[in-house]
Amino acid sequence: MSTTLAVANQKGGVAKTTSVASIGAALAELGQSVLLVDLDPQACLTFSLGIDPEDLELSIHHVLTKGLDPSEVVISTDDGVDLLPATIELARAEADLLTRTGREHAVRGALEQLAEGGTTYDWVLLDCPPSLGVLTVGALTAADGVLIPLQCETLSHRGVGQLLDTVHDVRRFTNRDLVVWGVLPTLYDGRTNHARAVLEAISETYDLAVVEPPIPKTIKFAEAPAAGRSILATSRSSKGAKAYREVAERLLQISADPPGATAR
Ligand code: ADP
Ligand code: MG
Repeated sequence: MSTTLAVANQKGGVAKTTSVASIGAALAELGQSVLLVDLDPQACLTFSLGIDPEDLELSIHHVLTKGLDPSEVVISTDDGVDLLPATIELARAEADLLTRTGREHAVRGALEQLAEGGTTYDWVLLDCPPSLGVLTVGALTAADGVLIPLQCETLSHRGVGQLLDTVHDVRRFTNRDLVVWGVLPTLYDGRTNHARAVLEAISETYDLAVVEPPIPKTIKFAEAPAAGRSILATSRSSKGAKAYREVAERLLQISADPPGATAR
């Protein structure tokens, strides 16, 4: 059984990409087969896994808009995970897909095509762009669950309601079974009571589970992307790597017993 998890929040800089790379590497350490999908035209995930998007001729863009077989685009990375990479061309996909019938199903279609070709994974993690446009809706349509990285600061709740509205629409129109797995506190400064208070307020207001442990704010994360490896490889025993390993174990538990589709 494959679990597809969208990592989404339309706010930039909340550690979506860092979480996808780190959780992916942690799941691979646990013996899981993992595919990461870069759905952000900025291609930060692709870059952070050691692949220069400018060297790529083919990317997820060609799969989504031109019907290219995704198995021709998948690459394996040093972190032990496979990647469907992005390039800046993906910026055009939003516009290209906008007039297409069935555009919401493009990501799902690509994953199904991979599976039909015999390439299956235990986990597919979708790194969403910082918007609620066609690509994020496509990711939510393809996903079993959504994980919402959240920086616990005072105004961070403002986008959560909008994101949950989008999740609602996706449930109504394109993916009835989508479940919100919860928020993942990121860039967490445990020294302040403030961060915990904000986290509690958000999870109560929106009735959301919190996937723990929180990911501490640490300088180590700044160094990982330049090395082309996730923090699990660049600083194996750091607090951040440890936290992501624990989150990966938690996600394994959740996937074995997913929250009901009625809970959000
Ligand atoms: P998003 O994909 O949501 O835009 P990123 O994963 O690109 O966010 O992270 C934004 C920035 O924050 C990056 O420079 C990243 O290295 C940094 N970052 C992510 N997580 C942490 C952390 N736990 N501690 C410190 N810096 C972090
Ligand atoms: Mg990102």
